[in-house]
Amino acid sequence: MAEVKESSILIQDVETKNIMTKSTLPVGGYSVNPYVGCTHGCKYCYASFMKRFTGHTEPWGTFLDVKHWPAIKNPRKYAGQRVVIGSVTDGYLPQEEQFENTRKLLEQLKDSGAEILICTKSDLIVRDIDLLKEMGKVTVSWSINTLDEDFKNDMDNAVSIKRRLDAMKQIYDAGIRTVCFIAPVFPGITDFEAIFHQVRNQCDLIWLENLNLRGGFKKDIMDYICKKYSDLVPLYDAIYNKGDRSYFRGLEDQAERLAQENSCTFVDNELPYGRAEPGHPVIVDYFYHEEVRGSENTGKRTQKA
Ligand code: SF4
Repeated sequence: MAEVKESSILIQDVETKNIMTKSTLPVGGYSVNPYVGCTHGCKYCYASFMKRFTGHTEPWGTFLDVKHWPAIKNPRKYAGQRVVIGSVTDGYLPQEEQFENTRKLLEQLKDSGAEILICTKSDLIVRDIDLLKEMGKVTVSWSINTLDEDFKNDMDNAVSIKRRLDAMKQIYDAGIRTVCFIAPVFPGITDFEAIFHQVRNQCDLIWLENLNLRGGFKKDIMDYICKKYSDLVPLYDAIYNKGDRSYFRGLEDQAERLAQENSCTFVDNELPYGRAEPGHPVIVDYFYHEEVRGSENTGKRTQKA
């Protein structure tokens, strides 16, 4: 197994028998990750739990396994299925420029008829516009939870918000369905209305998801809030130590109002594949998405804690 240290990132090759794995995500289908580990190293990364299955002892964000897999057999078997690329690694990490694993994967899935969802915090995806345009049902989602580059720099090693916004526009203008994934929403910090107005003309969907502090990173985030946003400590204490839901309920109401004022559809689950009318993205309420939601897709949950 080759092993390379590159600017303090440990890079290794790993063999994988089958790149397609059944997804446990709410969206179902398949989850495909061309790498193990994620060098964007977000402080709130829900995927960092993966580390214990990898044999790595290095901190999350400082190692990357480059997968090698045999060509996907019978890609047509995935026709009509949702295939998510990037659930526990970003397929467009800076190292993708060199290894091109995600491009290789897209080439193998090009004629599969699968519905591809790519989640990224990068603009390297613009390199693959040619391929994406040939693929039919493709959605590209960028995680953007702030317009403040300083806060972004405190949270991740990915490209600037400006570069993500520019990439979203290019992909949208190329006729590809795009999502602005406002996640995780940091109480008192994420201004989703400001982000909405920034992106409304260049995305089809806006997904909203709350910050969840169940992982081992809770202490790091709470310490960060204490240090940089001390006035928010009582709010974070109420939400993350005392289980107070009122802040996010208020945001749900705010999101619904925002949708009404801007003639956008407001739902609590994604609609079947489709494009939104330009300037009127569909707003999807994924706050506390793990909970039971309304069956009418109104954006209002039937069960509130
Ligand atoms: S980009 Fe996603 S997978 Fe990568 S570190 Fe950030 S949250 Fe985790």
